[in-house]
Amino acid sequence: MNVHNLDCIFKPERIALVGVSTNPNSVGGKVLTNLVGSGYRGVVYPINPRHEAVMAMPCFPDLESLPRCPDLAVICTPAHEVADHVAACGAAGIPGLIIMSSGFRETGEEGRRREEIILEHKARFPEMRIIGPNCLGVIVPELKLNVSFAPHTPKKGHLAFISQSGALGTSVLDWAREENIGFSSFVSIGNAIDVDYGHLIDYFGDDEKTRSILLYVESIAEPRKFMTASRAFARGKPIIVYKAGRFPESAAVAASHTGAMAAADDVYNAAFRRSGLARVFDIGEIFDCAELIARNKIPRGSRLGIVTNAGGPGVMATDALVAANGSLAELSNETMAALDEQLPPQWSHGNPVDILGDARSKRLARAVRAVAADPGVDAVLVILTPQAMTNPTRAAQAVAEIQEETRKPILASWLGGYLMREGESWLNEKGIPTYKTPEQAVRAFMTLVEYARNLETLYETPRDIPVEFSLDRKKIKREFLAGLALDGRVLSEIQSKQLLQAYGIPVTLPVAAPDLDTALKAAREIGYPVVFKVNSPDITHKSDVGGVVLDIRDDGGAADAFHAITRSATEMQPEARLEGVTVQKMAALPDALEMILGIKKDPVFGTVILVGAGGVTAELFADRSLGFPPLNERLARRMLEDLKIWPLLRGYRGKPPVDLDRMIEAMIRLSYLAADSPEILELDINPLLAGSGGILAVDARIVIDPDVKADPAEPYAHLALHPYPEEYVSEGVEMDGHTIVFRPIKPEDEARWMEMLASCSRESIYSRFRYFFQWASHEVATRYCYIDYHREIAIVAETTGEDGEKRLIGVGRLIADPEHETVEYAILIIDEFQNRDLGGLLTDYCLDIARKWGLRKVVAQTTADNHRMLALFKKRGFTIHTDSRTSTVDVEKDLTTAE
Ligand code: ADP
Ligand code: MG
Repeated sequence: MNVHNLDCIFKPERIALVGVSTNPNSVGGKVLTNLVGSGYRGVVYPINPRHEAVMAMPCFPDLESLPRCPDLAVICTPAHEVADHVAACGAAGIPGLIIMSSGFRETGEEGRRREEIILEHKARFPEMRIIGPNCLGVIVPELKLNVSFAPHTPKKGHLAFISQSGALGTSVLDWAREENIGFSSFVSIGNAIDVDYGHLIDYFGDDEKTRSILLYVESIAEPRKFMTASRAFARGKPIIVYKAGRFPESAAVAASHTGAMAAADDVYNAAFRRSGLARVFDIGEIFDCAELIARNKIPRGSRLGIVTNAGGPGVMATDALVAANGSLAELSNETMAALDEQLPPQWSHGNPVDILGDARSKRLARAVRAVAADPGVDAVLVILTPQAMTNPTRAAQAVAEIQEETRKPILASWLGGYLMREGESWLNEKGIPTYKTPEQAVRAFMTLVEYARNLETLYETPRDIPVEFSLDRKKIKREFLAGLALDGRVLSEIQSKQLLQAYGIPVTLPVAAPDLDTALKAAREIGYPVVFKVNSPDITHKSDVGGVVLDIRDDGGAADAFHAITRSATEMQPEARLEGVTVQKMAALPDALEMILGIKKDPVFGTVILVGAGGVTAELFADRSLGFPPLNERLARRMLEDLKIWPLLRGYRGKPPVDLDRMIEAMIRLSYLAADSPEILELDINPLLAGSGGILAVDARIVIDPDVKADPAEPYAHLALHPYPEEYVSEGVEMDGHTIVFRPIKPEDEARWMEMLASCSRESIYSRFRYFFQWASHEVATRYCYIDYHREIAIVAETTGEDGEKRLIGVGRLIADPEHETVEYAILIIDEFQNRDLGGLLTDYCLDIARKWGLRKVVAQTTADNHRMLALFKKRGFTIHTDSRTSTVDVEKDLTTAE
């Protein structure tokens, strides 16, 4: 399939070079030399009106004079001429363009205008695809296609490399040569005015030559496309990303703790994580990581076993490991016994396994083998220092052998220089990465651990947490937001908590008390002990001005507190408008931790959720993790697990654990609020008290962007991920005494989905999947239940039994192509419900959704003997093509014509 029409760029047969020059050192000259010198088998047309020939090749004056239309035009002219050439290429019907010239956005306003003009021309030729401008070009080693000014064509292989920066791209390629790494394609996207990461990930995702993708990212312009494409690809093939560090652009203007704590780079990190990518932080790690992943050497957990012939480096590695949140594996009794038997009595008797300086390679190999075999060890780091008795090369050979016997990754650090070099080559040859220091090795290990967890998060089935929304969210919002317009940007604690409460998050709701009498009355009504806080639209940090008095136990205390607060606030912030105090219940959650839970709108990725250690020191410790709404149980939990305070949440040294279910529920509820509210710029619950007895929001603040109005046509434009499409949940229909609801599938459905398949006959399964589909594994099931609603939707038919148990009795699935034009449709109905036209109803429901999505065509497949399906499709006006050899029947229907 020609995904996004990109074949013209990666598989061209004829290439026009616009702007070649007789100077072999110019961009155009270099590209021509590379193209011709690399052995490309297609046709190259140099174009330059001023020359008859360049480098002994005949030159054409312009595009019109070419004997045939090229698939690809490469433009290397000065920037101001580019737009005209783009228009000419479009007019000549050339489908692919690579603009290598620089002098665009990267140079300022004039350059930006040039890009706009190009895009205006491009708009007239919607099929035309453009790479660049300001890019290094494209290399496809297998076709010996080198349209770039990179001096060497890399080896052919299975890694696709997409780089934003040209310069970095070439150095990575150069390095790859040294490391003997091959590529399926290299593409430098430059300013990416048209073709971007998302398109390329889709393209390489479909390319059978590509087994993994490497991304060099500086910034991402279209996060939705990026995340959708990556999530689709990462399921089958790994993506490794290196993101150049950026400054925390927006932190300075933040008006809340959440705003200040969610720096741009953290948001990128969260996006990579949610897409199942492996992020490396050191360019040097890229290939090692790619290699280990390609060999499927992915650790199952973060427990590292360390084997060393010297104590010091073992300690260094341990420190680095602990600092990076990894864990030192605890060796089992069997492993300890095996090591006792094989090692001299002075060995370290624990992990790191110090096998002592006089160890020869045999002893090293025995120790590594024993540690690698321990079920409590996820990976092994072998550290060797030069010692009189040790031959580093022989040691390397011994360790290299073990690597073939185990699934677990083995990493090595042969500490030293010259003496170690031969050993390192041995290790590398066998696919064991070597690191100059134990710290670097540990960092690489942690990258793999992160990657494994990211993939797991992509797959893991969330528990059905009972977040019951009996609330009318639309109504809450309407009423609530109507009241806001009057009050400006920053909502008061009272208003903020009202909204949170409406979403089912427990709060201590304050009452406003402009004077002491009202305050006393409120305190008695609420019931002592209470809390008074200064009430002023101008004071954001209430305790900073002595504006919070806790644990007020009686009227006397209340009067004192009232006076103290007004006095102190007037003194410390005389210009602030004071409106008395607010009165609320003093939270009674013994041993509770102070957490922060918030929402922030990121300029690139849209709304994100933050959770972390809260209270007044929140920003100081900066212990937080970010996630994208919508959250489910699994994702919320993962955010908590990533916190440094996770051990405290789980219960630490005799303290009871926090009620995690309630905490997770609050996060999920907040993520619904975030998804519903594009106008929320920042939201801070700080602190959210989290204890064993539940959770409670005791302070909250919301900042509204008055210019944002929710767009009913695109209610989720502020989100990088499409939330559960609730709009496709149907009313119940009656059928033979069952009430059937159609609704989109969700990850929580996994067990029900499996039950449904289990209740189908072999024939039904065969006619749905056209082979005897092996569905009974978590991996497969999650693929069908955990979907990206931007691209795919599965509608299940659900009934509720007398016992209240829900059951799936059928599913119809729509999978759109990356272009969002054609959609594939497939349907399965359990045997018991066949022959009752459930299939027809479900199909109509799905086709309706396909139309709402704006898709143009629906295709499906069935077998010639499946008369019921054929009748169903015929009745709905599908055209039917039977392949008599395979007895497969392809059906399709145009969705653009009126019914
Ligand atoms: P600030 O504007 O300074 O953030 P807060 O409302 O967060 O003011 O109050 C400061 C601190 O007082 C909180 O961090 C929390 O520890 C405590 N606190 C506030 N409200 C309550 C309450 N209702 N019950 C118990 N403690 C509270
Ligand atoms: Mg606070």
